[in-house]
Amino acid sequence: MDRCTTPACQSAREIFEELKEHYDDHNLYFQTTGAVLEAANKIGAPHHLKLILSQPKNEIMIHCPVQMDDGSWQLFKGYRVQHNNVLGPYKGGIRFHPEVKLDEVKSLALLMTMKCALTHLPFGGAKGALRIDPRQLSPRELQRVTRRLTASLGTNIGPDFDIPAPDVGTNAQIMAWMADTYANFAIPSQKINAAGVVTGKPLEYGGSFGREKATAQGLMYVLDELLPELGIQRTYNELSYSLIGYGNVGSWTGRLLQARGSQLIAVMDHSGAISNPQGIDAEQLAEYVEKTGGIVNYPAASAISTEQFYQTQVDLLIPAALEQMVTIDEAQQINCRVLVEAANAPTTPRAENHLLEKGVKILPAILCNAGGVVVSYLEWKQNRQSEQWEASLVDARLQTTMKAAAQRVIRMAERLNCDMRTASFAAAIEHIEKVYATRGVFP
Ligand code: NAD
Repeated sequence: MDRCTTPACQSAREIFEELKEHYDDHNLYFQTTGAVLEAANKIGAPHHLKLILSQPKNEIMIHCPVQMDDGSWQLFKGYRVQHNNVLGPYKGGIRFHPEVKLDEVKSLALLMTMKCALTHLPFGGAKGALRIDPRQLSPRELQRVTRRLTASLGTNIGPDFDIPAPDVGTNAQIMAWMADTYANFAIPSQKINAAGVVTGKPLEYGGSFGREKATAQGLMYVLDELLPELGIQRTYNELSYSLIGYGNVGSWTGRLLQARGSQLIAVMDHSGAISNPQGIDAEQLAEYVEKTGGIVNYPAASAISTEQFYQTQVDLLIPAALEQMVTIDEAQQINCRVLVEAANAPTTPRAENHLLEKGVKILPAILCNAGGVVVSYLEWKQNRQSEQWEASLVDARLQTTMKAAAQRVIRMAERLNCDMRTASFAAAIEHIEKVYATRGVFP
């Protein structure tokens, strides 16, 4: 088991002792809080801010009874964690996955607070999850589950209060069902704005151009800014990369890097791992996964083991699947120059220390994958104005926002002489601290 031994965890432990909360350093929530509090210490953040950030404002737990197509009943457990809303309405994805746990959702909600603050969006942080395997459900069952979940969340979500979006296991169709359910409950005067209750919707129903690929597109702008800072002077067509996960974020990252000329060498997802030293066609692989549900048996590559996947030499290794996939075991095998965190919290603290010691640079998730929430914000703005903007306008605003956030991280890393993850949290916390300083803490 990967144990956390960093000073960050020490300061998190002290805060949790003060709150009389049991501290467990294997737990993702404590690892994430530890890293955030380390950054807070580096900028001398006040004690009350550290207390506020160490726990979410609201933790909502629901149970949804739903009838299956065969007439049987199942009860699904769901969570919505609202971490902080000092900057604006809560914002964060909804995940459908059979193994979600409350502490994982709390961790992801905290990261959303950090991400929105780093990008200077007028949103706070939240995350939701339903313990369910969407691959095992028929489309009719999935629709009933989604509508029941939305009804159960009730007024805990809303376009001015808490705005979910797609995440692992959810997509634009699920967002459309959520928005439609919410709209059916809305009073007549609020129906016009009801679709703004979620983002990541289909284009025909309040969606934004550019949202589907937004997370990966934002990552491209981060790489444009940060690779030269890391001393990687090669052009994109000289770079090789591998991907963990080939869902929304992974497959779009694969396609956009390929469009820039980089070469995809290896991919791993829930179904297996494949490689081709001559390059894997990211577009064709996306079509294959769309049809079959996974990368396994993709004909134009060879099957490899998980160990071989991590040992594959690449310039960029890009986790785009689940949390804590890169532990010390994987870190010891990894053979890349830069770990680009497209997924949330993919690297454990011990793995991170090991990678940094062996000279691997790590680009942190709250910067790398912020493009999704940036375009979600633009979709929410379009919904409020009953408009649909041109793709080029959305993309230009995404680029400006991502480059500004990347520059904030670079400046903070120089100022504190620290790694990029600490710098990204520090820049986010400094922004939140300034807002609390002007607003005060009620009462
Ligand atoms: P997705 O459901 O579209 O894809 C998830 C991928 O992870 C799939 O390819 C799946 O096969 C793979 N996977 C699952 N279990 C695995 C395992 N054990 N080993 C290897 N691969 C495994 O999800 P997504 O929306 O692409 O999200 C991926 C990550 O990006 C998550 O951390 C998510 O929180 C984060 N993220 C997503 C968005 C977004 O806009 N979708 C925005 C910001 C961050």
